[in-house]
Amino acid sequence: MDAFTKPFTQQEPMPEAAIEAAVAVMRSGRLHRYNLVEGEIAETALLEQEFAATLGVPYCLATASGGTAMQIALVACGVESGDAVLTNAFTLSPVPGAIHGVGGKPVIVETTENLTIDFAHLEAQAETSGAKFLLISHMRGHLADMDALVALCDGLDLTLIEDCAHTMGGAWKGKPSGTFGKAACFSTQTYKHINSGEGGFVAADDADVMARSIIRSGSYMLYDRHLAGPGAEAFADARLDMPNCSSRMDNLRAAILRPQLADLAAQVDRWNERYAAIQDGLRGTPGLRLRETPNEETHVGSSIQFMMPEMADDQVAPFIAACAKVGVELKWFGAPDPHGYTSNHTSWRYAGSQEAPVTDRVLSRLFDMRIPLTFSVDDCKQIAALIAATAADFR
Ligand SMILES: *Cc1c(COP(=O)(O)O)cnc(C)c1O
Repeated sequence: MDAFTKPFTQQEPMPEAAIEAAVAVMRSGRLHRYNLVEGEIAETALLEQEFAATLGVPYCLATASGGTAMQIALVACGVESGDAVLTNAFTLSPVPGAIHGVGGKPVIVETTENLTIDFAHLEAQAETSGAKFLLISHMRGHLADMDALVALCDGLDLTLIEDCAHTMGGAWKGKPSGTFGKAACFSTQTYKHINSGEGGFVAADDADVMARSIIRSGSYMLYDRHLAGPGAEAFADARLDMPNCSSRMDNLRAAILRPQLADLAAQVDRWNERYAAIQDGLRGTPGLRLRETPNEETHVGSSIQFMMPEMADDQVAPFIAACAKVGVELKWFGAPDPHGYTSNHTSWRYAGSQEAPVTDRVLSRLFDMRIPLTFSVDDCKQIAALIAATAADFR
């Protein structure tokens, strides 16, 4: 079988409509979202309105990044210095980083073999830490049973904040991911579902949370220029209480995101076609376990994970190397030393040393692969065949 030769990090070009919109903003010179001429509405404000509509929530704020969106949402929801904030152990470093960034203490909750948060451990950690907040990261697009999670958070008096960096376009029983908690955070960084290089959103249906978010993002007293924000009365306290943290999105990025957002549903279908091709190609491979998507979940297959639970410790790195040799780039969150974008809770030293033996075991045999839309469905079939053939040598 031929080796695979395409890069795993190549995104699609910007759509022509995005390029034209960007050029128009550049010609105007008005890149700052509050720099408007009489009667003009900012691209950023329009983007927020459109994103709120796709989620079916009243309020949305565009931010400089997904990480700043999380910091804003945490503070807007009431996290104060020294507060414990629960989060799942299997996630990327910006999540505990955002908690730390607002003075919170990350408290790690185990991730199950199904790659979602462990409810029993969540309950135990909430009780021992006294935490009043859960920042759940829907890592790699896998959703926990959201109805059960919301009920559990209610029972434990936990304020739920969602990190939807991997679930933009996803849903649980048809209800969009990002509509289950007090606030939700999204990223529009290059490797996510819409691409502005850097960028993000906070979405909420609570007027107070959104007023606090808008002021904190750096609106000065120009909050009436938002189309997806609450009325002036909601800002009475927030306008004087919230520090300005200069985390705004600009009109150039908003301009290139609007056409991409309009295309999101079609892109999700394309991702899922590719995900299914890989999943089908891997199904039945001896020793290899796939994560099957629950019926309630609308998944966005922008990456794929599989486990090799029986693999010997000293075979994991050689297996990854053998896949790399045939052009298939796998990531391993269980590596003892962090590489590239991967890391795990043992490499977040600022969070203090915490135990997560279940997650450690899961991550030790979990393989992760990005699925860029520059891959065709045939490319995905070839990748699956190469992984399956390589896996056979590691039996
Ligand atoms: C990318 C990412 C973020 C943060 O996004 P940035 O826009 O890069 O700050 C948050 N959570 C997860 C799980 C991510 O992958």
